[in-house]
Amino acid sequence: MIVKKAKRMANVFSEFIAHKILEESTDLTPSQLEYVILRGGRAALSEASRLYKIAVKMGREDLVSHLRYLWNTQGPKGMLECPNCGFKAIAPDRSCMICGKVVSEDYIREQLSFNDKFEIYIKTSSVAELNEALNYGYLLLGERGVYSPRSPRARIENPVVYIIYMRRNEVSRIIEEINSRQLPI
Ligand SMILES: [Zn+2]
Repeated sequence: MIVKKAKRMANVFSEFIAHKILEESTDLTPSQLEYVILRGGRAALSEASRLYKIAVKMGREDLVSHLRYLWNTQGPKGMLECPNCGFKAIAPDRSCMICGKVVSEDYIREQLSFNDKFEIYIKTSSVAELNEALNYGYLLLGERGVYSPRSPRARIENPVVYIIYMRRNEVSRIIEEINSRQLPI
């Protein structure tokens, strides 16, 4: 118990030191960089992009990989992995919060299996929701599924959602679905 408590205190202390280093130094020395990434915890996470760039510049792949592990296990949840730096950091605007790479919409579609989720979306949405999608021209895509543009569920069920613009065949698919439901019996 005491050891656990002491360890937690030590972590708080090293986070504080790392925070101070980041605040006061514009150019980090290799040993400062090492300290911040290895011991900085949340302080390192809050400046992950800056630290990543310095570590890459210094050729410290070991520190890059430690930072990546820290981010991917304790950082913000739900973002897709960046194909460039390997951090799970693709923001809703499709840019990587760490290295700045912008991924294509195709990449997002593939990573989150848009096609499968789109089929489920079509079958489970109301005509009003489908019409909303047609009006806006895009859908929301998250880990848990595809949603109409104004769906409140999208952001409740997913920490992060991406905008997917519908292609012509997808628009036709929705129109087809709406028509099939409105057939007079
Ligand atoms: Zn990246």
